[in-house]
Amino acid sequence: MSDVLLEVSALRTGYGDLTVVRDVSLTVRSGEITVLLGRNGAGKTTTLRAITGLNRVTGGSVSYLGAPLADAPHKRVARGISYVQEGKKVFRELTIEQNLILGGFSRRLGKRGLASSVDEIYQLFPILGSKRALPAASMSGGQQQMLAIGQALMAKPKLLILDEPSQGLAPVIVKEVMERVHELKATGIGILLVEQAVQESVAIADEVAVIEMGRTTLAGAAADVSLEDLQRAYFGAV
Ligand code: ATP
Repeated sequence: MSDVLLEVSALRTGYGDLTVVRDVSLTVRSGEITVLLGRNGAGKTTTLRAITGLNRVTGGSVSYLGAPLADAPHKRVARGISYVQEGKKVFRELTIEQNLILGGFSRRLGKRGLASSVDEIYQLFPILGSKRALPAASMSGGQQQMLAIGQALMAKPKLLILDEPSQGLAPVIVKEVMERVHELKATGIGILLVEQAVQESVAIADEVAVIEMGRTTLAGAAADVSLEDLQRAYFGAV
């Protein structure tokens, strides 16, 4: 089995005095995809915000590469944790290439280093390469989502966190975005994917975790999780 990158155990977090995540546990391994599911308001984004350092952990633990995470959010990016927030917008008036270059700023690369990183992204997402000189606004919603992911990849993450990349996309595009995310596994990074598109995301997952009202109600290998298990975890007994 691959190395454990991220281990969230009995996490408790929220906003100020308000606790919204009470007991969430999940694991992400290198070269694998963990999908985090749950109804609107279940606490998925709040869980991600605790992992990336935007919300305070008030109980349980978040470990990265075997040690508890305590760095400020920008230091977590430098340590290999990239986060594409829900509804992330690209810079519409800048070209695709300029958007990617902005994503690489945290790494202080030279001109040549930046160019080779941009080329790596074009290999992963050829559509971005073919439109490199066009404004990001000229691309479809699905392509802009791929650009947002490409921008995050420019920071060379070990762990990529994606919050609902399929939001607002037509079903056929959702499938395509999921395929591209699936292909990223081959680069060896670990991916934590929050999704509402249950079937499409479970189809590419190695691990699945479901949360309901701030608690994990199901966690395990995707291959062992049935549709009935998912329904039970989402809605209680079926
Ligand atoms: P969605 O799919 O709608 O994004 P989610 O599972 O990601 O849902 P969260 O965004 O984590 O859910 O929200 C969990 C709970 O925390 C909700 O009850 C929400 O109202 C509350 N919440 C979210 N953001 C804040 C905030 N900034 N301040 C206070 N409460 C918040």
